[in-house]
Amino acid sequence: MATQPEVGVSDFVLLDNLTTDTFIENLHLRFQNNKIYTYIGEVLVSVNPYKNLDIYSMQHMAQYRGREMFEVTPHVYAVADACQRVLRQQGKDTCVLISGESGSGKTEASKFIMKYIAANTTQVHRDYIDRVKNVLIQSNSILETFGNAKTNRNGNSSRFGKYMDIHFDYKGDPVGGHISNYLLEKSRVVSLQPGERNFHAFYQLLSTNNATTKKFGLASSAVYKILGSERATAQDSKLFSVTNSAFDALSFLQSVVEDIWSIVAGVILLGELTFTETPDGQLSIGGPLTQCTNALGVSEQALRSSMAGRVLSAGGDLIFETNSFEQFCINYCNEKLQQLFIELVLKQEQEEYAREGIQWTPIKYFNNRVICELVDAPHQGLIAIMDEACLNPTKISDTQLLEAMDRRLNGHKHYTSRQLAPTDKKLKHGVDFRITHYAGENKDSLWQDLKRLLHSSDNRSLADMWPEGGTNIQKTSKRPPSAATLFRNSMAALVTGLQSKEPFYVRCVKPNPHQAPNTWDEQLVRHQVAYLGLVENVRVRRAGFASRQRYDRFLKRYKMLSQYTWPNFRGSNDKDAVMVLLRDLHVSDVQFGHTKLFIRSAKTLHGLEAARAEL
Ligand code: ATP
Ligand code: MG
Repeated sequence: MATQPEVGVSDFVLLDNLTTDTFIENLHLRFQNNKIYTYIGEVLVSVNPYKNLDIYSMQHMAQYRGREMFEVTPHVYAVADACQRVLRQQGKDTCVLISGESGSGKTEASKFIMKYIAANTTQVHRDYIDRVKNVLIQSNSILETFGNAKTNRNGNSSRFGKYMDIHFDYKGDPVGGHISNYLLEKSRVVSLQPGERNFHAFYQLLSTNNATTKKFGLASSAVYKILGSERATAQDSKLFSVTNSAFDALSFLQSVVEDIWSIVAGVILLGELTFTETPDGQLSIGGPLTQCTNALGVSEQALRSSMAGRVLSAGGDLIFETNSFEQFCINYCNEKLQQLFIELVLKQEQEEYAREGIQWTPIKYFNNRVICELVDAPHQGLIAIMDEACLNPTKISDTQLLEAMDRRLNGHKHYTSRQLAPTDKKLKHGVDFRITHYAGENKDSLWQDLKRLLHSSDNRSLADMWPEGGTNIQKTSKRPPSAATLFRNSMAALVTGLQSKEPFYVRCVKPNPHQAPNTWDEQLVRHQVAYLGLVENVRVRRAGFASRQRYDRFLKRYKMLSQYTWPNFRGSNDKDAVMVLLRDLHVSDVQFGHTKLFIRSAKTLHGLEAARAEL
């Protein structure tokens, strides 16, 4: 594989005449030839092939073990290997940041990385490590069952953000891990877009007749409201077994697994309940009430009183607002990660030049920090303004909130409100001000009712999920932080955590909106290349240098080009050898760093490669 001829350039820094057009041309050419991976230095650009490629076997893994990224055909395994190598050899924490739009291949990339890491372990304590590996891989099945759904953009779309920590021992073997989830799209449970499905778990449970469906009178053939117009498929039934084996592999107790499926059944049944007001103002609940309360393990009376409160206070189209709010948070999260990317990539470059004693002129790029600050700055940011509005003892209206925002943010380059711009102009960077309709304030006490209900459940797993349901709200004087503030805090913690690690990046690109193989939508790709700032990334990476390589590696690859270095250089160090080699070849557009050679133009590198090929 390593000797296969490359198609186009395998690293964008080698592109002659870099423009967005030449960038896309190279990406397209490689995509047509099933070369879905291309580097920008150490950043991996990945294009979703929407078909199975034979590039992920154990044999393929073996090609990447212990090899430098530029030595082998670009691959997500090379990133995984580099990541593990830094960890093993330098004892540094590493992280892989995978970004891209829905359906671009982020989840698949993360699974390939985990598969590689799991396979790349030593032989000591085999049993224990095998168990950890199993847990790593199988935890994905559970996360996907409960957190993924079919959307119009992706048949298996992750409806939550995921940060997975894997812990390694001193030998570099995985010994444990931790998964944090961000912002599960809860609103999907009760509201579906046409053509979309609810979370896989619901269909999986209904795909077979099993103990849970029998116990609560659910029928696989029946029509249930929360499932939309979709039915369980044979694939769901297969995945139901996979999920249950995963529960097993992760040592979930049988009773807990039963609890979990009962909760899923309970949610399906909740969707079947109907609520009407009797002439004397009482709430009448119709539908499978008993089955539902059995499945959730709560009393009919408790369900009735908490539901009554909810219906009367909520009314209207609140679940719309939640959608908008979630979208706002997702956009904000993407901006934060993009900012981290910009800062870290630049920081890394700067540090490398400083370390190697190389002079460079910083290049221009768009820093989206201004967008992040618009959202999260203390006092002046949108979240702070919303929080303040929520603190107001009299409920303020959407219009008043918008006015408060206008007062503070009017004139901000990236802020537009509907009142200021009647055309409802959306902002370029995805901050959508429909957020101004979010009325987070009266939700806390409302939710408290439901938390108390769920905490009272006989279903132990369900009750344990809501420990705060046991506290008496009358006694809690401190107002809980708003959902927006909680999200901002979790983002800040995530960014701080990531900043302390050595980062690797996978930038995923979706080739077309049809989830189809061999199809290239130029406009869609262009949009993503711009959004991800890939061309700027190449510019930053080059900053005047097309390539940089460690002296020992460079020498190994090109020593045969000069009689002074082939078969062996007579001096003692690699840097001297490279200097002699390049003088002999009349190559002068280079700078000599302390441990690496920096080559200015891609042509020089092409020339060296061509000379090598001619031998
Ligand atoms: P979302 O943001 O919606 O979760 P995502 O970026 O995680 O999207 P994936 O679920 O990873 O997208 O990919 C969507 C689909 O594309 C996969 O279900 C799979 O069919 C296909 N796919 C992605 N990457 C690859 C790959 N390397 N090889 C083959 N198929 C792939
Ligand atoms: Mg995903």
